[in-house]
Amino acid sequence: MTASFPRAEVVIDLSAIRHNVALLASRAPSAQTMAVVKADGYGHGALEVARAAVEGGATWLGTCSLGEALALRRAGIGVRLFSWLDTPEADFAPAVAEDIDVAVSSLDELARVVDGARRARDFSGLNAICRVHLKIDTGLSRNGCPPAEWPALVKAAAAAKPLIEVVAIWSHLACADEPGHPSIDAQAKRFDEAYDIARAAGLNPMRHIANSAAVLTRPDLHFDLVRPGIAIYGLNPVPTEDDLRPAMTFRSSVVLTKRIPSGESVSYGHSWTAERDTTLALVPVGYADGVPRSLSGRMDVWLAGKRRPVVGRVCMDQLIVDCGDDEPSIGSEVILFGKDGPTAREWADKLGTIDYEIVTSMYRPRVHRTYLEAGS
Ligand SMILES: *Cc1c(COP(=O)(O)O)cnc(C)c1O
Repeated sequence: MTASFPRAEVVIDLSAIRHNVALLASRAPSAQTMAVVKADGYGHGALEVARAAVEGGATWLGTCSLGEALALRRAGIGVRLFSWLDTPEADFAPAVAEDIDVAVSSLDELARVVDGARRARDFSGLNAICRVHLKIDTGLSRNGCPPAEWPALVKAAAAAKPLIEVVAIWSHLACADEPGHPSIDAQAKRFDEAYDIARAAGLNPMRHIANSAAVLTRPDLHFDLVRPGIAIYGLNPVPTEDDLRPAMTFRSSVVLTKRIPSGESVSYGHSWTAERDTTLALVPVGYADGVPRSLSGRMDVWLAGKRRPVVGRVCMDQLIVDCGDDEPSIGSEVILFGKDGPTAREWADKLGTIDYEIVTSMYRPRVHRTYLEAGS
């Protein structure tokens, strides 16, 4: 194959996103689906993923920051948007004006949201209401309101009508990717208790707690809304097999091949030496493009119909593949990870991390992003 590719390219298959969202929605038939597109859609492009996710059946989109949500709204995304973590400087008035649901974890945050709603009334009219999802910390000990402060938060939120409307209570799981972990049931129990307290305070909120892993393994925790992230990108957080399709492929192409005799060494530091005459293929991607240097000597690529080892050090801009007695043609496609090639998960396992980190780190100025089936 001799197509011309950019030096380094991530190809995002939007049909995979649609497929994955539809699959996840079908696993949680009683709930609505919020596709999580924070961090620029886990490195896949927030707006393109958002559109594909909506086509796949998502009726909500989740972002971390208000800025991410506002960018989607201003680009014409019409579904419910929810954003959950900002700095104390964040201004909630635009969230109200642009119809974005926000998270509240403390009385202090509640006061800032109420203030935003009040100011939004000044420019968008008396009906401006801030839709709030109160977050209970059920055991992740990250954001969220500790149980001891929950009754006061619930009461204050209920009293802030009609400037704010509590539409949901929600939480986040610590160990959902380890099905059977006792913390999951413990968190579920605290979530139930928090719900009872909210009901007793006169609220009638939706509930949501399930990330991808819980969508796939804990139907009892689907409640009204599920919040899958990683699985919509086709990466499975739990060991169970599933029909998820990875959306991201990282690829490059062969720019040079050469024959070297047995005994010649390769790349900086001469960490690899040919044990027989062999053909090397030069690929113009390196650690500046997202190929971790620590994978030097322990990664494969997919090239000319099979997996082949990267030999010697990964450089800033290039790496070298041992092709034995094969001679791939110049311009041959090289898959670093994704469709047909090694998986992002394989990289993550070798690096002692998770595939979330691999794909989110692919947003780089030198790496082209291309969409398959964009706009369809
Ligand atoms: C990132 C995130 C999710 C999605 O988690 P996945 O493990 O990617 O499915 C859901 N909810 C919150 C609050 C998050 O921060």
